[in-house]
Amino acid sequence: MALITKAIKGTKDVLPSESYKNQYIESTAIKNAEQFGYKEIRTPVFEHTELFQRGVGDTTDVVQKEMYTFDDKGGRSITLRPEGTAGSARAFLEHGLNNETLPQKVCYLTSCYRYEKPQAGRLREFHQFGAECFGTQSPLADAELISLAKSIIDDLGIKDVHLELNSIGCPECRAEYHNALKEYFSARKDELCPTCQDRLDRNPMRILDCKSPICSEIAAGAPVVLDYLCDECKEHFAKVKGYLDAMNIEYKINPQIVRGLDYYTKTVFEFVSDAIGSQGTVCGGGRYDGLIEELGGAKTPSLGFGMGLERIQMVMETQKCEFPQPAKPDLFIVALGEKATLKAIEIAKDMREEGFTALYDLNQRSLRAQMKYADKTGAQFSVVIGDNEVDNDLAKLKNMQTGDEADINLTTFVSKFYSVTFNDALDDLTINGESFDFNSLFLGGEKE
Ligand code: ATP
Ligand code: MG
Repeated sequence: MALITKAIKGTKDVLPSESYKNQYIESTAIKNAEQFGYKEIRTPVFEHTELFQRGVGDTTDVVQKEMYTFDDKGGRSITLRPEGTAGSARAFLEHGLNNETLPQKVCYLTSCYRYEKPQAGRLREFHQFGAECFGTQSPLADAELISLAKSIIDDLGIKDVHLELNSIGCPECRAEYHNALKEYFSARKDELCPTCQDRLDRNPMRILDCKSPICSEIAAGAPVVLDYLCDECKEHFAKVKGYLDAMNIEYKINPQIVRGLDYYTKTVFEFVSDAIGSQGTVCGGGRYDGLIEELGGAKTPSLGFGMGLERIQMVMETQKCEFPQPAKPDLFIVALGEKATLKAIEIAKDMREEGFTALYDLNQRSLRAQMKYADKTGAQFSVVIGDNEVDNDLAKLKNMQTGDEADINLTTFVSKFYSVTFNDALDDLTINGESFDFNSLFLGGEKE
């Protein structure tokens, strides 16, 4: 029984009382992305395992240790997406978006699955907002992508998040760097964790990203990739920095950032917060010029980022950023008896058609209980109707905040609700910017 009533370790429910925060973060991300010309893409939650082995890289922590992989009933190896880039890149190729005008800019809100040790800011099911820009090698694109991430962070009111920037070069300049790393790490091979000992030959740069304390301590003294960049990568990096300067975006060069996914080339970046402890990276991304080719497409230089939405929310809560409160219901209809209930159904329908939120009690409780319920819902107005009110087409509309009441005709008042805004007090009632008397409005009176 205990299993049935307990969510899986590392997963999280978002309850109705909290979901407005998620909605706010998500809609802010999408809105900013649209302003930069990004359009939403939706891809399946699972893909062929090979896609991630290829796309993310089979020497990465994600592929070696963290994937949720299983055989389906047809014997295929399936993996729950650990990130969003590989699926988007697969869809980009499968649907021939590479034949459209480039770059193609896509964004997504997505759940991701990684078998990691659950802790603050580290879940097994988490959510990302991601943006991918396929088909441009211009450093302008790197700077624009970074500025999109920054716009979202700024728009959410997050402070004290800083940008860390690095370039990890291209396969050409990396060959020499790999040799330098191999030489450095070989001297202390016995101290490395078993996974990193294996990586030493296959992909020594991955050791720089290992989370084990000993490996990271050894990695701290390793040669830095910036010293090994080829001329083209150097120039690209200089231009990215120049554009960021022009955009007044501050950054700190951090030669330790290599990112946990194999496909990155040239620019890599992270937005880091000091407010939420060691899981402080709220957004990570960079350029992956080789990925599309790796997946079988033509050479298509591209770039993207993933933003961890749970971490963004943690930062916002720690910093007491404001989440706009969800709108309160406009009207609660207290209905007494069957006749009044039928009227309530009609009024609620009319109200909803006009774009308002209208509620009534499905449990048809007593007057007292319904008033209490109305209060709980936070409704701005209530109206009590029984047989008399329906027969006489007359009732009282109550402002739940001030207690003020106005007489209304049940048959006509809904249309008058339209474009009414209240600034708490009834005498502040305005319609399309003009001042009205509450009572006279609903009884069809003249403007004051
Ligand atoms: P980390 O170094 O923290 O493990 P990562 O390099 O594995 O991060 P990415 O693959 O770049 O992370 O994913 C992008 C973003 O997604 C991260 O910056 C982070 O905000 C978020 N993220 C990654 N893994 C998790 C997780 N297990 N739980 C919650 N958020 C996560
Ligand atoms: Mg990770």
